[in-house]
Amino acid sequence: MYEDLADILSEISGTKVITNELMNRHTSFRVGGPCSLFISPDKNHLPGIIAFCKKSALPYVVIGRGSNILVSDNGFEGLVIEIGDAFNKITVNGDMITAEAGASLASVARAAYENSLTGLEFASGIPGSAGGGLYMNAGAYGGEMKDVIYSARALDSDGKELEFTPDDMDLSYRHSAFMEKNLIITEMVFKLNAGNKDEIKAAMDDYNGRRRDKQPLNYPSAGSFFKRPEGNYAGKLIEDAGLAGLRVGGAEVSAKHCGFVINVDNATSEDIINLMKKVQEEVNDKFGIMLEPEVRMLGKF
Ligand SMILES: Cc1cc2nc3c(=O)[nH]c(=O)nc-3n(C[C@H](O)[C@H](O)[C@H](O)COP(=O)(O)OP(=O)(O)OC[C@H]3O[C@@H](n4cnc5c(N)ncnc54)[C@H](O)[C@@H]3O)c2cc1C
Repeated sequence: MYEDLADILSEISGTKVITNELMNRHTSFRVGGPCSLFISPDKNHLPGIIAFCKKSALPYVVIGRGSNILVSDNGFEGLVIEIGDAFNKITVNGDMITAEAGASLASVARAAYENSLTGLEFASGIPGSAGGGLYMNAGAYGGEMKDVIYSARALDSDGKELEFTPDDMDLSYRHSAFMEKNLIITEMVFKLNAGNKDEIKAAMDDYNGRRRDKQPLNYPSAGSFFKRPEGNYAGKLIEDAGLAGLRVGGAEVSAKHCGFVINVDNATSEDIINLMKKVQEEVNDKFGIMLEPEVRMLGKF
């Protein structure tokens, strides 16, 4: 059945549709079983794909650069739509930058720098897409997407395009209205300020240096695994609970940065989930705080 659907979707999208694609090839955790169908369309073909999914009751999920997801070992039954390289145009107009959702945050931040625009320095080392970044309201070093977003476009489940103002997006710590409404972000406009190119570069270099010093970037991970609990830091609670280096199967609490769960030896998503549960239990027992994952789960666990 999926072979037939793949043929139809290839025709609708003008691009190759892969069956049984292993999701560990598309996640920074390097974890995840096969999805039934995988597509990486361009912007113009996406509405037709969504409309087809609705008409044929085909379940779908959207991913960007896979840097904040944990995909089940069983994969995903349905279509995975990657908003990636086919979807990555960036246009600069005065102090505004328009980015298609698949553009990497690093490349949008670079475009800002090249045009002496300040505001996106915080995003230069976040390894996701602009769409994933807006969906998560990604942030670092005191900046977040909320501070710089001007407008966005997204598709609803009929494949209809909607326009969003910052108020409509309801952005807060790792939260957006796009999550609540199951929308696919296609494009966004950032409003920045004129800045000094050397200062912009210096800030980006500083943030990226701090990442290299503090984060276990030599192991696959999804960044900070847990959300920051109010008035505290997940990494500090985990370290204070004595859990640095705690291991389940191939998954480990990074001793370099306890907020990171790292894949040290062919971890499965089950290893990661079991490690997550242990950490939650211990931290809750010791400090009465239940850590919540920031990482988004995809598939059946
Ligand atoms: C080493 C490392 C460091 C990190 N540092 C930071 C950091 O400093 N700050 C921070 O906030 N995050 C950080 N992250 C996490 C991650 O990079 C961000 O959350 C990023 O914004 C996710 O983007 P993505 O394209 O990879 O999204 P994905 O991981 O592919 O998806 C994340 C969620 O967004 C949804 N999504 C993705 N694209 C779209 C779209 N176009 N429309 C609708 N929904 C979409 C997915 O369905 C999923 O629910 C880090 C991750 C790693 C691995």
